Amino acid sequence: MRYLSTRGGSPPAGFATALLGGLAPDGGLYVPEEWPEIDVHPSVERYQDVAVEVIAPYVADDIARDELSSLVEDAYARFDDPAVVPVRALSDGLHVAELFRGPTLAFKDIALQLVGRLIDRELTRRDETATVLVATSGDTGSAAIEACRGRDRVSIVVLHPRGRVSEIQRRQMTTVVEPNVHNVAIDGNFDDCQDLVKAAFADTDLRRELGLIAMNSINWARVMAQVVYYVTSAAAVAPDGGPVSFSVPTGNFGNVLAGWVAARGGVDVERFVVGSNRNDILTRWIDSGVMEARGVEPTLSPSMDIQISSNVERYLWEIGGRRGSVVAEQMADLRARGSFRMPPEQHEQVRAIFAGACVDDEQTLAEIARVHAESGMLIDPHTAVAVAAARRIERGEGPRVVLATAHPAKFPDAVEQATGVRPELPAHLADLLDRPEASTPLASDPDVLADFLRTTVGR
Ligand SMILES: *Cc1c(COP(=O)(O)O)cnc(C)c1O
Repeated sequence: MRYLSTRGGSPPAGFATALLGGLAPDGGLYVPEEWPEIDVHPSVERYQDVAVEVIAPYVADDIARDELSSLVEDAYARFDDPAVVPVRALSDGLHVAELFRGPTLAFKDIALQLVGRLIDRELTRRDETATVLVATSGDTGSAAIEACRGRDRVSIVVLHPRGRVSEIQRRQMTTVVEPNVHNVAIDGNFDDCQDLVKAAFADTDLRRELGLIAMNSINWARVMAQVVYYVTSAAAVAPDGGPVSFSVPTGNFGNVLAGWVAARGGVDVERFVVGSNRNDILTRWIDSGVMEARGVEPTLSPSMDIQISSNVERYLWEIGGRRGSVVAEQMADLRARGSFRMPPEQHEQVRAIFAGACVDDEQTLAEIARVHAESGMLIDPHTAVAVAAARRIERGEGPRVVLATAHPAKFPDAVEQATGVRPELPAHLADLLDRPEASTPLASDPDVLADFLRTTVGR
């Protein structure tokens, strides 16, 4: 499988380059040259076996099937449900696919547990070491740390804005005591953290010295790993085949893009409901055909507080006929003028498969309360956005699956506010609030960060 850049200005690359390189050299995102057909009978197969079937064509030139299989087994061994992604029935003909059974209680574990192992394997093969550098406003940091802790070839440095992440999210990062894990509390906000990461990657000497690599949601390998649960969830609710709809709480469009890849591969999907919080760039885009960035508002579902959904670029590339120059122009307009309009025939294609609904904080709390009253189930605010969105969009023919992206105990304040019940952390994190923490406070200054990186993780 070869990987092409969405902006058409870089030569095709292999899987390992897409994995370690992150962005293509022309600033585009890597996309596979083909969308392989998904040929599995998931009703009779384990999640891990489906994963190997789905992922193998994307990595075939680099990784033998046996080795892929052992990486997959290892990646999902710490999930606390034998199904990895269990699917439960809710009221109203809805089903919930629980994507939060991994070590950090959010869906990012599903991709990152595998991606950490893929990166470590590639570095071992090259006899190299590298440093993963991540800025986080919450979930990504802990998921990336859990994916890298104890790995031989990678160190990880995570920047979080000091005093601006929730206590649980902070502790999930700062209580991990491993020689290859470094938490940095930046005096600033999340944008400052992201700017520091960008500055570090732009510093070519530093980048080469430390072997900096990214693990953010534009990495193709993350999307690839997420295709799997669309296959298994569809099989769970429609064992004899037939169309299924998915409702997805959406930020960067990485999760729902994986669903679209599953549909391209043959999974029978009737519709994707894109659930947004008040940061509704995607919902507005689906309705109007205009992608327009606005400021970011904080909400109860912080992992969806985004201004621009970077993974849409892969979808635009495909429906626009794979013309990199057109995508490059659209992205340049979005950056320079804050918006671009899709041609009408592309907008039609979007509306044929996607529907959007924007759910504000009040409606989110009401949905958490409703689900609890109807079924006794506690859901987190991100999941609640998707449930409320699913109810709002007209029902199709087939069963509907809501993707539950975080464990309720990750957002206990909102859940308690809505239901009066404070969700408990699962056993492996029960003593999280008592564990000692370690992090290094740093000023928001690229030179200070560069010094810190050279002294702590320099090779
Ligand atoms: C990251 C995240 C999302 C958004 O996923 P995207 O792939 O960015 O659309 C939704 N919910 C939770 C809990 C997350 O951590």
